[in-house]
Amino acid sequence: MDRRTFVGASAGALTWMALPRAVQAEVYAGLRQINDDVTAKNLAGAAVQLSRSDVQALADSLRGPLLLAGNPGYDLARQVLNPAIDRHPALIVQPGGVADISRAVAFAAEQGLVVAVKCGGHSFAGKSTCEGGLQIDLSRFRHVQVDAGKQLAQVSGGSLLGAMDHETMAHGLVTTAGTVSHTGVGGLATGGGFGRLARRFGLALDNIASVDVVTGDGSILYADSEQNPDLYWGVRGAGSNFGVVTRFAFHLHPVQRRVMGGSLTFGPELRRQVLEFYAEHCANFPDELYVDCTSGFTPDKQQPFTSLHLCYSGPAKSYDTVMAPIRGLGKPVRDTVKSIDYVAEQRRYDLTDPRAMVTYVKGGYVSEIPAALVNAILDGLEPDPERYTRVYFQHSGGAIGRVAADATAFPHRYAIANMLPMINYPPTADVPRHVAWLKQYWKTLEPFTHGFYTVEADQQSAAEFNSNYLDNYPRLLAAKRRYDPKNLFRLNANITPEAAGGAV
Ligand SMILES: Cc1cc2nc3c(=O)[nH]c(=O)nc-3n(C[C@H](O)[C@H](O)[C@H](O)COP(=O)(O)OP(=O)(O)OC[C@H]3O[C@@H](n4cnc5c(N)ncnc54)[C@H](O)[C@@H]3O)c2cc1C
Repeated sequence: MDRRTFVGASAGALTWMALPRAVQAEVYAGLRQINDDVTAKNLAGAAVQLSRSDVQALADSLRGPLLLAGNPGYDLARQVLNPAIDRHPALIVQPGGVADISRAVAFAAEQGLVVAVKCGGHSFAGKSTCEGGLQIDLSRFRHVQVDAGKQLAQVSGGSLLGAMDHETMAHGLVTTAGTVSHTGVGGLATGGGFGRLARRFGLALDNIASVDVVTGDGSILYADSEQNPDLYWGVRGAGSNFGVVTRFAFHLHPVQRRVMGGSLTFGPELRRQVLEFYAEHCANFPDELYVDCTSGFTPDKQQPFTSLHLCYSGPAKSYDTVMAPIRGLGKPVRDTVKSIDYVAEQRRYDLTDPRAMVTYVKGGYVSEIPAALVNAILDGLEPDPERYTRVYFQHSGGAIGRVAADATAFPHRYAIANMLPMINYPPTADVPRHVAWLKQYWKTLEPFTHGFYTVEADQQSAAEFNSNYLDNYPRLLAAKRRYDPKNLFRLNANITPEAAGGAV
């Protein structure tokens, strides 16, 4: 007797009915009557029918819900941050635990379905949802546990950065995380993980001590430097190519709660000088000083500006000395820098209405910012009342650059910053016009870049993704063939296994 039948039987039904609804929802969240075959798309992109009984068997095997189009929660689950993305998975599994993830992946492998993995849903290109495949929405799979003695945080694969910072800082400990707290740990830490403390402690991925991964056949594997070392190495930079990371263990570092954080915004007359200063000095700032630089046009009045967003986490007594050259740049039109709780600072850029604006972004790493690049940036920026236009440098270097290019799958250790020209506009805007403008502008900036940040990538070709792994590519190919030879996990900076002769 399967679980559905059991619940339908009279004695079981009585027991079941006696449970509060919330408990029913929690314990039997996956319980669902499937009435019809389900139309899906297979790995080759062709329409296929999944039989009612197969889908029912999947639903019965899960603790968390299986959602189909039309079910409550389906539209929220398939939704990602970028409102321009509108895709319809055939099936959405919201795992209640690792067993559900394993079951969902095994089902996708049996049926030949592409798998999308959604953690924070921040992929600009919408790689955490899919058309016709199986989406694993990790939004019910969020947990952070701190072992203060070992300075380790155990973080489940669906967790968001804000929860991780909040829990670890309660012990006076942190690891590197990104600058927006509703970003997912899953996408950020498997692709890179730049942030306010990265120049001190390395990328988020440099702090991964071990992982659990559900790989392409549904196996649940532990990986660290001793066990499955190729998986441990590959996960740190090659995203979800090998499966779903269900647990990260992160090294933690003692940090004081209060840091100096905020932004200095300079008006039209100083914007070039400030960008030139950043170009010349950002590589040599002390590790405790993280500074992002943005040049653009204010969204409201379309006024040209350059701003420096900074976080200083070093000793208070050195702050004025460290900041003297920046303070010497002149008077900002806006100054929000103050002593602030680190966890609050990590929430500074959170979006109150995350899906109000579409983001379109290009990006690449720079190992220097020569005068010609400064000129290209400032000469090419164009105001437009329908959009917010800017070029953003996210600070790299420091400890990030002191890790060998082949120590993890992330090879771009030479970068002093990640340069991202980006535009935001409402979904009702003249999208082709704005996208065409950014693509044209990017042609003038791209020659100054070397490689790109895979998790912020737009729609690069397979060849571009593969070559972006630089000398780490051959080793990644071998790992891809081993852990996901069917390439179920292709919605990422994809390592295409056919290049190594594997099946697709
Ligand atoms: C507002 C905003 C701010 C950002 N700030 C920063 C920043 O400060 N620093 C920085 O480095 N990056 C930053 N990013 C980029 C961000 O790191 C990437 O977009 C990242 O992929 C987001 O992860 P996610 O889990 O939210 O995304 P999702 O869209 O859920 O997933 C993105 C990719 O990661 C994969 N993935 C997700 N979870 C898992 C998992 N558990 N196991 C395996 N694969 C998984 C998915 O398959 C998909 O390919 C920012 C992005 C946005 C939109």
